[in-house]
Amino acid sequence: MATKKSKSRKSRRKVLFILSLIAVILCLPASLLLIFTRLQQKPEEISPMENIIEETLSTERKTEVISETEPETQPETLPPGTVTGISLSFYHAFLHVDDVSVMPVVRMSPDDAIDISEIWESSDETVATVDKSGMITPVGAGECQIRVTSASNPDIFADVNVKIYSDDEDLPDPDTISCSGSPRDDIQVIGGITYVQGIMLVNKTYPLPASYNPHGMTSETEEAFSQLCQAASEEANLSLFSHSDFRSYQTQVYLYSDYSSQYGSEAADRFSARAGYSEHQTGMVIDVNWPGDAFNDTPEAIWLEQNCARFGFIIRFPREKEAYTGYKYESWHIRYVGKELAEKIMQSGLCLEEYLNVMSEYP
Ligand SMILES: [Zn+2]
Repeated sequence: MATKKSKSRKSRRKVLFILSLIAVILCLPASLLLIFTRLQQKPEEISPMENIIEETLSTERKTEVISETEPETQPETLPPGTVTGISLSFYHAFLHVDDVSVMPVVRMSPDDAIDISEIWESSDETVATVDKSGMITPVGAGECQIRVTSASNPDIFADVNVKIYSDDEDLPDPDTISCSGSPRDDIQVIGGITYVQGIMLVNKTYPLPASYNPHGMTSETEEAFSQLCQAASEEANLSLFSHSDFRSYQTQVYLYSDYSSQYGSEAADRFSARAGYSEHQTGMVIDVNWPGDAFNDTPEAIWLEQNCARFGFIIRFPREKEAYTGYKYESWHIRYVGKELAEKIMQSGLCLEEYLNVMSEYP
């Protein structure tokens, strides 16, 4: 019995072994074929659900990549402190052959860039030359580009488009001029005077040439101011008058040197402009009644702030805007910009520098 039993067990094992061998032989090519066809499959043949999973995964991957690279604005290959950008205070200059030189203010980014030295070159020195500091001097009629390049990173540069007019040609009108193809086309230096969106701009970044002299208030400014004074008297029984309006370049030379010798140049820079950088030279500015902090919050100052825009004036250096204007609050210093713009600026609560998106810092 025992031998019979073990014999039949042995033959059963043999059968099982053969059966499983057949199963393996049959299944192996099938599974190989399945793997092979799966590899051959195009993405669109994958079922929609698989697609969604794939998309989700790749989005997650993308998000990971973005969040990893976002804080890093520069490629990893650049060492820290490398210059990665240049911006200029203007990109267009229209000058007469005999005009004074102009010099754009250069800003290199990032703020902690280590080597910010500049290389200047002119594309045509028969039209305009440029010196090592970026002083652009007209030579002859024509057009050229003045390029500033970062000495530490030659891939980074910016161009000033310069057009020089012969003395008998008229310079373009700031209201009608149009440029294209470079950043901040709305900032134009015409005959050494900066216009932004057609408005004459004078601050610590944008000076006037020493020769600019309207010999007094412009007629529009004078007319608008007299209407303002009349309204203050009729509507509020307040007496407003000009303490100081137009000041020539020469007057400002004396005034600033007097202030800086009295208070030091750092203090003087907060309330007085260096010659060429004073808005009073435009003939569009008035210091009303008595310049000084004692004027702040007087009925006259309050009325002036609430009503000046109706006559085309703005409070040029408003409260808490010193970071933009470069000057502490001056309730008495008003600038004529025309009614339409004055209303917009005063309603916006912005100072002129914010409104035009320009800087005001001595170079
Ligand atoms: Zn003033």
